[in-house]
Amino acid sequence: MLKKTSHFMREANFIGGSWVGADSGAMIDVVNPATRQTIGTVPKCGRTETRRAIEAAEEAFHSWKKTSANDRAKLLRKLHDAIMDNQEALAELLVMEQGKPLAEARGEVGMSAAYVLWYAEEGRRTYGDVVPSPWADRRILVTKEPVGVIGAITPWNFPSSMLARKLGPALAAGCTAVAKPASQTPYSGLAWGVLAEEAGFPAGVVNIVTGSASEIGDELTENPLVRKITFTGSTEVGKTLIRKSAGTVKKVSMELGGNAPFLVFDDADVERAVEGAVAAKYRNSGQTCVCTNRFFVQEGVYDRFVEKLVEATERLKVGSGLEEGTQQGPLIDEKAVEKVEELVADAAEKGGKVVAGGKRHALGGTFFEPTVIAEASPEMRFMQEEIFGPVSPIFRFNDEEEAVRLANDTAFGLACYFYTADLGRAFRVMEGLRYGLIGVNEGIITTVEAPFGGLKESGLGKEGGHQGIEDYLDTKYVCIGGLGL
Ligand code: NAP
Repeated sequence: MLKKTSHFMREANFIGGSWVGADSGAMIDVVNPATRQTIGTVPKCGRTETRRAIEAAEEAFHSWKKTSANDRAKLLRKLHDAIMDNQEALAELLVMEQGKPLAEARGEVGMSAAYVLWYAEEGRRTYGDVVPSPWADRRILVTKEPVGVIGAITPWNFPSSMLARKLGPALAAGCTAVAKPASQTPYSGLAWGVLAEEAGFPAGVVNIVTGSASEIGDELTENPLVRKITFTGSTEVGKTLIRKSAGTVKKVSMELGGNAPFLVFDDADVERAVEGAVAAKYRNSGQTCVCTNRFFVQEGVYDRFVEKLVEATERLKVGSGLEEGTQQGPLIDEKAVEKVEELVADAAEKGGKVVAGGKRHALGGTFFEPTVIAEASPEMRFMQEEIFGPVSPIFRFNDEEEAVRLANDTAFGLACYFYTADLGRAFRVMEGLRYGLIGVNEGIITTVEAPFGGLKESGLGKEGGHQGIEDYLDTKYVCIGGLGL
């Protein structure tokens, strides 16, 4: 059934099947980044409410894990349908709190539904093994079981789909969840509570708490009932959560920061590379973990690539995400704009040439001009730091070995892209790049069917693909003896 945006905009938390406030009554303001207006408030919960949510999830786990994979799949399919029936309302809600263009928000909500459907199916295929036994009278079984209660913490840049990648496999596997969405974009997270309730998930299977990140995070990581922490966000917070989870030896999955390189070789189709570059750089105004952070372009096509990327960048329509045709929304907050300004100033001081944009947009607030910086060099800060804004620094390189070395010269290892028409080079470069996600002649590669996740300090574990459910399962070995065979 179609619902309005307001139906999903809950100013309460979802704990044990009830919509509740913080014990203290404290609330957090939620601001629309395009208008800078407060659009509502959500509860500022802490440890006590989180503990209650964990206990509700633990109680629900005992019966949820016993439901059949088929019954869980049926509910997940209902959840998928509820998301798709309300795609427009959920997308508008997302734009209001996050700022991205409506077309991107519709895409994100569609992606959320696709993850749910994928895991509705994958949940029915969590096969174990029957292993040939070394003993004549014993048999060996290897079974997969849900890990238990999981704690999920998600960021503001994809407030709907980052939860889908966690709740989808968790619920399909038979786990129950306590989720904490980002404070700047809590409504798209709370909407999962509304959707789960209406799809008919039993009370306590899905719980959503908003509020103090450190208090909620501390309870989730320290409470022994929580058996897994799944986090998407910055590497810094991810490292803290790994350390804190060590106290009770929880499983952890971490989708952390990136510093994506985008290599263009002399033999590449430059038009195609520019098209891929725009998609890989400016989606969500540069605020995605897989957004290109550094372009490396070979000498022979450097000038042509810069010229064409400048043209494409200058054509991007900046505006409120709800306006028809907008391709670039505002940045999430003032701090994000200041960081982008600092990085542009640092590059200009070190010899970078601002050839498109370069400053705050005439629309004011947190709008920033899509920017291209030519003649970037390795001593500039964006060589090591995530920009998280609409800035394209373009470095030059001479040969393949140099390109791969520069691309790998970072602590991160999430996404990378390269363009070449040479098949041998495609394999050499692919095998040389230390990244978890590689686009060859493609700038957008995320899909529910494939495992998404980083190497090095970009994270641990995979989301999506058949691999994405593994982290929600424990493997048990059962030896059955005395069979008298
Ligand atoms: P963030 O500051 O790490 O916040 C992410 C989440 O962690 C939020 O819900 C935040 O809560 C919470 N948090 C902050 N401090 C915490 C603590 N001490 N204990 C527990 N939770 C805590 O990251 P962000 O700025 O929102 O997101 C941007 C980052 O996410 C970028 O680095 C980006 O690359 C990364 N990212 C990675 C992926 C991926 O799949 N690899 C996808 C998207 C984004 P509050 O909002 O309440 O502070």
